[in-house]
Amino acid sequence: MVRAVTSDLLPELTLPSPMVDLRDDRLERRGVRVLLKRDDLIHPELPGNKWRKLKYNLAEAVEQGHDTLLTFGGAYSNHVRATAAAGHYFGFKTVGVIRGEQHLPLNSSLAYAVDRGMRLTYLDRISYRSKHSPQVVEQLERQFGRFYLLPEGGSNELAVRGCAELPGEIVSAFDVICCPAGTGGTAAGIATALTDSESLIAFSALKGGEFLTDDIGELQRQACGGIRGNWRVETRCHFGGYAKRTADLDAFIADFALRHGIQLDWVYVAKMMFGLFSMVEQGEFSPGTRIVAVVTGS
Ligand SMILES: *Cc1c(COP(=O)(O)O)cnc(C)c1O
Repeated sequence: MVRAVTSDLLPELTLPSPMVDLRDDRLERRGVRVLLKRDDLIHPELPGNKWRKLKYNLAEAVEQGHDTLLTFGGAYSNHVRATAAAGHYFGFKTVGVIRGEQHLPLNSSLAYAVDRGMRLTYLDRISYRSKHSPQVVEQLERQFGRFYLLPEGGSNELAVRGCAELPGEIVSAFDVICCPAGTGGTAAGIATALTDSESLIAFSALKGGEFLTDDIGELQRQACGGIRGNWRVETRCHFGGYAKRTADLDAFIADFALRHGIQLDWVYVAKMMFGLFSMVEQGEFSPGTRIVAVVTGS
């Protein structure tokens, strides 16, 4: 049974997410202040931008009378996991359409999703590229019946609306806000809610992240009819590509955990943080700059 989408059903929901002042000599030397927006602490199973992106979509699915959510992702997708959790808490059936072939035993992400009641199906890499096409969607409807479709990564105009609530939670003044980007929904949303004196840098976690400039623009057009806010995509910090890592990145993560007691997610958050610290050390921010870095998950 689908239940109305109210936060009563998520007793552990922590919103607004906490802000933490990052005390670090590498920042102090440059006169730059960094505050972390700890969205990773929003909920243990629906962390960070995933809850923000799902919230209005869940309400819309209820509104349209759906009892099933269907979405797409890779075998390690945090969005697929979060959709399975949302289904569990709000009473939706869920279907996860996974890129590539089935590998048994299931990895921990997919095992979690199945444990939360999600049915999994697999699409070969070629069909996966046209996953949002009418042909593929009709085929899935024949298989699973009527469903509310959440696009890959959960990024659509309602996701942008959810993420647009983030800047309003920040009470201290800032000049620049940084977030990691996969599909760009989070960046698109945050940027729509900035004032004229604030700007956003979206750090691509993927190689060839130039495409994100078009995608973020398109998401903003769908959500609010045009490009909003002062933002740009930083493409230098992908460390070889999506879910690729290097010894330098691992050393940065270990050092950050020692200094600050925070284990950075290596797929997205650590790449942004490494990029941000490099830019600070290169003097790319003038002294006095106040920066918010969004910890989108863990
Ligand atoms: C999914 C995810 C992202 C990517 O967000 P987009 O809106 O797709 O750009 C960033 N960080 C973390 C931790 C994530 O799980």
